Amino acid sequence: MCGIVGAVAQRDVIEILLEGLRRLEYRGYDSAGVAVLGSDKQLQRVRCLGKVKILADAVARDPLQGSTGIAHTRWATHGQPSERNAHPHVSNDRIAVVHNGIIENHAKLRSTLQEQGFVFTSETDTEVIAHLVERELNSTNNLLEAVQKAVSQLHGAYGMVILDKQDPERLLLARSGSPMVIGLGIGENFVASDPLALLPVTRRFIYLEEGDVAEITRRDVNIFSSDGIPVTRDIRETSATYDAGDKGPYRHFMLKEIFEQPLAVSNTLEGRLNEAGVLDETFGNGAAELLKKIEHVQIIACGTSYHSGLVARYWMEALAGVSCNVEIASEFRYRKSVVRPNSLLVTISQSGETADTLAALRLGKTLGYVTSLAICNVAGSSLVRESDLAFMTRAGTEIGVASTKAFTTQLVGLAMLVLALGKSRELGVERQRELAAALKSLPGMLEETLKLAPVIETLAVDFAEKQHALFLGRGEEYPIAMEGALKLKEISYIHAEAYAAGELKHGPLALIDADMPIIVVAPNNDLLEKLASNIEEVRARGGMLYVFADQTAHFETSADMKVINLPHCHEWLTPIIYTLPLQLLSYYVAVIRGTDVDQPRNLAKSVTVE
Ligand code: GLU
Repeated sequence: MCGIVGAVAQRDVIEILLEGLRRLEYRGYDSAGVAVLGSDKQLQRVRCLGKVKILADAVARDPLQGSTGIAHTRWATHGQPSERNAHPHVSNDRIAVVHNGIIENHAKLRSTLQEQGFVFTSETDTEVIAHLVERELNSTNNLLEAVQKAVSQLHGAYGMVILDKQDPERLLLARSGSPMVIGLGIGENFVASDPLALLPVTRRFIYLEEGDVAEITRRDVNIFSSDGIPVTRDIRETSATYDAGDKGPYRHFMLKEIFEQPLAVSNTLEGRLNEAGVLDETFGNGAAELLKKIEHVQIIACGTSYHSGLVARYWMEALAGVSCNVEIASEFRYRKSVVRPNSLLVTISQSGETADTLAALRLGKTLGYVTSLAICNVAGSSLVRESDLAFMTRAGTEIGVASTKAFTTQLVGLAMLVLALGKSRELGVERQRELAAALKSLPGMLEETLKLAPVIETLAVDFAEKQHALFLGRGEEYPIAMEGALKLKEISYIHAEAYAAGELKHGPLALIDADMPIIVVAPNNDLLEKLASNIEEVRARGGMLYVFADQTAHFETSADMKVINLPHCHEWLTPIIYTLPLQLLSYYVAVIRGTDVDQPRNLAKSVTVE
């Protein structure tokens, strides 16, 4: 989940490496480090506990200089966050390595290497890589061969870059389960775990495939498949003009991304919809024909993406008449499941690199699904490349660790999938038109809803001292309550739970007292009366209610109930609209509590480890 950057150039690469780390910091941020080879051919390394800023300050105090280098921002999996566990790790002041992922057989390798005289200075799994490469070099004296031999002994997931002091104009790269991309320059080349890191220096990229080992020098790039055969991988030019490093007028990326949702959603819809419904090409060439065969949909995802899948299940069965299951990827991948005939496998992930989702896709492909569809925000990601069909959410780069615009655009993608599946089934022509028009109105509705920000900011004060919160919803708003609770947990560290409102009396009602805020998601649909009864159940027990309601539902604010009126919208769109005030609530609560909103503790953006 960490960030990796590397460079081989003629110029000093320190600033390129540090800027790359700043851009990747959202992926992992408990410690950071850099190692370069200068004109004196000496390995210079600086590592720090904490964020990239601390590393940059250390480098400013004690400048490094070098034209070949590697850098890393860490999200610890093995060994606590500390300077000695920060990457790059070195072996005998010769080999330096940065690594993303987990080496599962590290303990066994460590004890063998220790018996052979290698001295370990950290608790990480990563350090075995440095020593392994050095050991192999003693017999081959060829860095490429040494790395190939070393990686053949590793089990687990990795993206890595290796530097050898005695071969100063070369970097070795390897990928298995963690993304790795080469950035092509003129007379210089780069590497990173995400192209975003390299946008200031290049727009031309080569994505390594699973099992690839590559070497880059200033002028050459040589890539080898897992069996050691030279291979060519396509060069892709990115048109990304968006400077993700810029917060604009916003205090945090999360707030910026919340406010970008109307634009993100209109980008998601563009060119995919006309008055009659979803265009045939929306899910890829030939997808429309394939979708006609589908009788069942299996959705797999994690975290926020899982919540979007849960919403889709309500839509899919109610509107398209297609049965649907939704499962957490880390569960699906380790159990035996039964695939119904004519099933579609849908995976959802912002980054397309979520380790569990990717593993679930790989498993799913062996189980007999008709086809696989990825709903994803990152073109060229592993999930997209390995799925038969892909729907790109076009949300733009999302930096805040707590997902916002990726979620709402996933919902839009799933809504379009429902329309596409419904075409040949229960959705009549008129209903298709109605739903297409509703989707088209969405960006405007989102704009309207965001106007509530000042009201919600005031409300957030009530939560400053709270330790717990309960979120309630019914129907497709139940997953939205779950997403609201997750957001609050992630960034404000308040313990929050979501319940289907009908479940209250089966347990959670016991928790309700004056210290427990209860947030209710209450659009004006056919479940409103039921929900109103649930609200009364809470009131009778002295709970303080915060009700996000449709303005036409006419809930009234009173001493024990604050009502936040939302604009009336098409019933189908409520999960998307009601997400926004809950995002804003968690954001403003986190700001009041003074947490690190964009980089909350213990989390990272792109969960590329299991
Ligand atoms: N497993 C390695 C460590 O704990 C790498 C973690 C990461 O991907 O940042 O150092």
